[in-house]
Amino acid sequence: MSLKIEDLACSHCGKNGTIHSWFEKLDMIFYFMGWKANRLLSGYRCEAHERAVGGTGRNHPKGFAADVRVSPGAELKEFMAVVFSRDVRRLIVYPGRGFVHIDDNPDRPEGLWFG
Ligand SMILES: [Zn+2]
Ligand SMILES: [Zn+2]
Repeated sequence: MSLKIEDLACSHCGKNGTIHSWFEKLDMIFYFMGWKANRLLSGYRCEAHERAVGGTGRNHPKGFAADVRVSPGAELKEFMAVVFSRDVRRLIVYPGRGFVHIDDNPDRPEGLWFG
């Protein structure tokens, strides 16, 4: 185990609506990457926190999304391979911002984007 479910709680109020299957998937990804919880920038976000950070409201407040600190190059390549091998539905790379968004939103198209 690399993560605890509490690691995915809202950083603003501590509320945690993380879906358990998403936690297990993320924990496995972190395990394969050899990462600790400090790589996790954001997991579950309550509605108020989501509004404050300008999120879409479609992913983090539903408990099946995460923002993860990933360096470009070899690390990003390995991360993407691990993520897609674990059947994560969606990945958004934010070039130059040092993090990647992943989610399992069943109502949004599956794929890879650049934010
Ligand atoms: Zn909150
Ligand atoms: Zn995100």
